[in-house]
Amino acid sequence: MSKKIVIANWKMNPSKVAEAKKIYNGIKKGVTKIRGVDTVVCPPFVFLPELAKLGVTKKLALGVQDTFYEETGAQTGQVSPAMVKGYKAKYTILGHSERRALGESSDLVNKKVRHAIVEGCTAVMCVGETERSDEGDYFRVIREELEVGLAGVKRADLSKLIIAYEPVWAIGKRAEEALDAPALYEMVLFIQKVLTELYGRAPAQKVPILYGGSVKPSNAKEFVEVGKVDGLLVGGASLKANEFLDIIKEIV
Ligand code: PEP
Repeated sequence: MSKKIVIANWKMNPSKVAEAKKIYNGIKKGVTKIRGVDTVVCPPFVFLPELAKLGVTKKLALGVQDTFYEETGAQTGQVSPAMVKGYKAKYTILGHSERRALGESSDLVNKKVRHAIVEGCTAVMCVGETERSDEGDYFRVIREELEVGLAGVKRADLSKLIIAYEPVWAIGKRAEEALDAPALYEMVLFIQKVLTELYGRAPAQKVPILYGGSVKPSNAKEFVEVGKVDGLLVGGASLKANEFLDIIKEIV
């Protein structure tokens, strides 16, 4: 995959819509000059309408950080892909470790992934182990999250799927505490192997695999060049337009 994808996960930030608009405008302006990268900003739901008014472009899309598996209904607090599509959101991050930590199971993630795809929304399904032991148990964890999360997702649906590998222990840390790039490459090969078992080699190779976990301008290039990922999912560093743009510039 030559074109890279960089996704900003703002989580529950910033606190004010004016700040959200400022960051978004900064990113929007900056990405016009960068070629070869598709950028997606996933703000909190409440900021989506205002950011949608600022516009999306060929290089900058909008997404959200979760969606439910039904279109409407008695589901207090939930938001559906159909609703966010009305505000130009085309991507939905599903199964993020911060949601899994609140009790979201891979079965629930699977329902959300399938529904998002049916609604034409690209599902960014997050997988990641909470810790790494010498015995390599983390490979089993990733296999299970992939197999359960993708149950019922058909080969024809894969154009609406992105896998984000985020080792939980590497999230929200300093650059030096992120996963090292050769270990990332090993995991990328493993994810491709599992996807190949599920869908066959050629379809599996078309599914973008992103890395997330303490990505900064100083380590971004290695993840792509050595880790061989198709892009990055960026949390903390996506809340400063300049830092986020520096990450993008590092990988083109
Ligand atoms: C994330 O939680 O999706 C993430 C990648 O966070 P950070 O970049 O802050 O580690």
